[in-house]
Amino acid sequence: MQVIFLGTGGSIPTPKRGLSAIAVRRKNELLLFDCGEGTQRQMIQAGVGFHRKTKVFVTHMHGDHVLGLPGLLQTMALLGRKKKLEIYGPVGIRAFVEAINQTVQFSLTFPVEVSEAEAGLVCEEKEYTVIAAQSNHIDNSLAYALVEKPRPGRFNTQKAKKLGVPEGPLWSKLQCGSSVTLPNGKKVEPEMVLGASRPGRKIVYSGDTGQSENVVKLAEKADLLIHEATFDDELAERAMEDGHSTPCVAAETAKKAGVKRLVLTHISARYKDADLLLEQAKKIFVNTDVAEDFMRLELPLQD
Ligand SMILES: [Zn+2]
Ligand SMILES: [Zn+2]
Repeated sequence: MQVIFLGTGGSIPTPKRGLSAIAVRRKNELLLFDCGEGTQRQMIQAGVGFHRKTKVFVTHMHGDHVLGLPGLLQTMALLGRKKKLEIYGPVGIRAFVEAINQTVQFSLTFPVEVSEAEAGLVCEEKEYTVIAAQSNHIDNSLAYALVEKPRPGRFNTQKAKKLGVPEGPLWSKLQCGSSVTLPNGKKVEPEMVLGASRPGRKIVYSGDTGQSENVVKLAEKADLLIHEATFDDELAERAMEDGHSTPCVAAETAKKAGVKRLVLTHISARYKDADLLLEQAKKIFVNTDVAEDFMRLELPLQD
């Protein structure tokens, strides 16, 4: 699983930072979190492609998180995308996409499925779920967690041999969690040959938010927390008024939630370089980075 930061700026783009968009590449699928203006150009530059299975999760209806959708739909249509595009977001996302469809003269070449999401389970696939929590920014603003389901435990070949399971297709069946019947009629259950199930990975994205216990809870034990830090700690009051975070708030959230790694994003255009923000966060949570556009993080599976 790879995380690609496509846009890491807050509210207004700068020469170095596009607006909020984070791509997660998982197997053949692309999960896009937020879609600020110009996201499709960032996608071209990052080489993530427009034809694969794709889901878009919008955190809230502020322009810098959602105005990239018209351009994305247009580019996908011009490139002749065929696969369905799934879009999830808070109340308002459906009317927004319908308005684009009714007013912009583009002929979509693919179906678009829009679902309005609220706190709780947003979508469930065979190998993962996406869960949302209400964040502390505006009405209906959401934070998202991508949570992989546990994988089956390691296959114990010695146990399988002892039980008389012949090497071959029966081993694969057991590894996939199905019970098998041996030629002598004996039934072998997967638990008899598999070790303890192995945890999946968890990525949490705060979207725009001030300090939020909901985000702390959502981020519990995440492998990666991507948290906004629009302003530095000196501007804590301004951040609070605007429903935004400082590095201190983001780092406290990471610490309380017991995450492994923190990445700050949604950096205000006022910061020419983000070292100050990084320094402030590291005082509280050492394993912190500041996102840059096109930064890539690899999240390997744990054994
Ligand atoms: Zn924003
Ligand atoms: Zn916002």
